[in-house]
Amino acid sequence: MASNLQNPIFTDETKARKWLEARVWPQGPICPHCGATGDDVTKLEGKAHRPGLYQCSACREQFTVTVKTVFERSKIPLTKWLAALFLLTASKKGVSAHQVHRSLGISYKSTWFMMHRLREALRTGGLAPMGGGGKIVEADETYFGRLQGVPKMQRGFTHKNVVLTLVERGGSARSFHIDGQAISDVMPIIRENVARETRMNTDEAKHYYDLGKEYAGHDTVNHRYDEYVRYTKDAEYVITTNTVEGYYSIFKRGMKGVYQHCGEKHLHRYLAEFDFRYSTRTALGYNDYMRAEMAAKGIVGKRLTYRRPHKQGHTEAH
Ligand SMILES: [Zn+2]
Repeated sequence: MASNLQNPIFTDETKARKWLEARVWPQGPICPHCGATGDDVTKLEGKAHRPGLYQCSACREQFTVTVKTVFERSKIPLTKWLAALFLLTASKKGVSAHQVHRSLGISYKSTWFMMHRLREALRTGGLAPMGGGGKIVEADETYFGRLQGVPKMQRGFTHKNVVLTLVERGGSARSFHIDGQAISDVMPIIRENVARETRMNTDEAKHYYDLGKEYAGHDTVNHRYDEYVRYTKDAEYVITTNTVEGYYSIFKRGMKGVYQHCGEKHLHRYLAEFDFRYSTRTALGYNDYMRAEMAAKGIVGKRLTYRRPHKQGHTEAH
């Protein structure tokens, strides 16, 4: 990170824009309005135009690299967006809005908003399914925080947020904030995200009973009987959910240490951040620069579902 801080993309707006263009458009500019490329797109040069402006002759619209991205219509310079992006993706446990606000000299409110937009860029929606032939995916759920406006129950966890996580052993993670632990909450997500050729490992919860019918294999450990690791008869592989449990321990430590609390409606963005870091961890061959490049590519095609930062639910560590 130290040498990264010397990178001119953090001080020179033109260099920042060119760096971003090269990541978002590796094959040259694409009109975000109609998808036109090549000769249909002309760069508008000269002082009459703001820098980085392009003209599309197919739909007659103009655009820059930030149009229809999570950076759209922001008054924050690109140099600061990129610095925040590097800070967020290079920090092992995440980085608080307060720290970024102090490091970059942007107001806390703008920083908080910016960090959530960056988390949106880390979201991996719509990717190819995980797993596949010979691969193992562990699925599990955890409880996190408290549902807003729901009183603490006498027993059970109905007042808590439920998170479902899928972890490919030796690979990536995907987490989802779900409504509950019914089959109808869990199975559609697994079907959509895990290839059928995968062997699934879970605990013995009811909502996983049907996995064996739909997947290449389904093996369970029985946590109620303190069983956490089991070996197949031919010792072909280890049956466990320890990998996904490990993911949860990183997530919970990070949320407690850096973010402290988060509103229910923002939980999916924090999950996207922890999924991203887990899926691009050093053990899988990624470094800080590669992580930042991946995040930069992710600024495109993300629909933002909220407009302004909220007063509630953004308490983070100072
Ligand atoms: Zn166009």
